[in-house]
Amino acid sequence: MNNNKVIDNTCIWCLKKFPEVTFDKKAHTIPKSLGGQNYNRNVCDCCNEYFGTRNNHNNSYSIEEALKETFIISRQRFLQEKTKRKIGRFKSKFFDVKQRNGKYRLNVKPSFRFTPGFQAELCRAFKRGLYKMVLEELDRQKGNGHSQKFDIIRDFARYDKADLPVFYFNRNAGIFIMFNREAETPILFFDRMNYLVSNEKFIEIEFLGHVFGFPITDFTKADFTAYVNKSIQEKTGFFKDCVIIKKLTDIDISLNVLNN
Ligand SMILES: [Zn+2]
Repeated sequence: MNNNKVIDNTCIWCLKKFPEVTFDKKAHTIPKSLGGQNYNRNVCDCCNEYFGTRNNHNNSYSIEEALKETFIISRQRFLQEKTKRKIGRFKSKFFDVKQRNGKYRLNVKPSFRFTPGFQAELCRAFKRGLYKMVLEELDRQKGNGHSQKFDIIRDFARYDKADLPVFYFNRNAGIFIMFNREAETPILFFDRMNYLVSNEKFIEIEFLGHVFGFPITDFTKADFTAYVNKSIQEKTGFFKDCVIIKKLTDIDISLNVLNN
């Protein structure tokens, strides 16, 4: 189950083929530690290992951990809402989550707090993790991950070159459509709702209640303006604004929108 539609023994990241690279391990598209069950057969063992290797911030975390340790907070929040009981403290490697006046506050843990550049570095690793998850799921769901048009994603996520923006859309209200076990086993959607706008150059996803937008290939200023205008128009009433994330606290990770 959960296999790709297309398996062609070429890695979507390094574009190398078997037997130059091997495909023995299961490359989970959404971290397994986050409940992800799908895996991509077109990710070689070397690239799979790269995303799981601690090579950020003095080797203290991997790309996959940056992704998981952020989203784990949203997941815990959903599970808590569902069961209507405390499921223990929110646990994340990077953040302490404290409740105050009914709102959750995220604080960077003391062990990281005083390190210059930590927030920016973590945000970059998180963004690369998001792009990783998007390309692997795009390939798993639509079978087009090898396309040359995605080279900018490969450069950023796999080779740590340049920088790509990630847009985050803040909801107006804490109303979510989710499957019964979606918090336990998160799913990445490209077209769940009409407000998700995608075209040749931009894509939007919904994941654990969050909506993100990304460029997926080279784009001009005119492309960007057209996309943003359309996206904001489709989201009228559902979302209040859109930010380009610079630090993780730009995202409503603890889902304070649920308090409204
Ligand atoms: Zn590879």
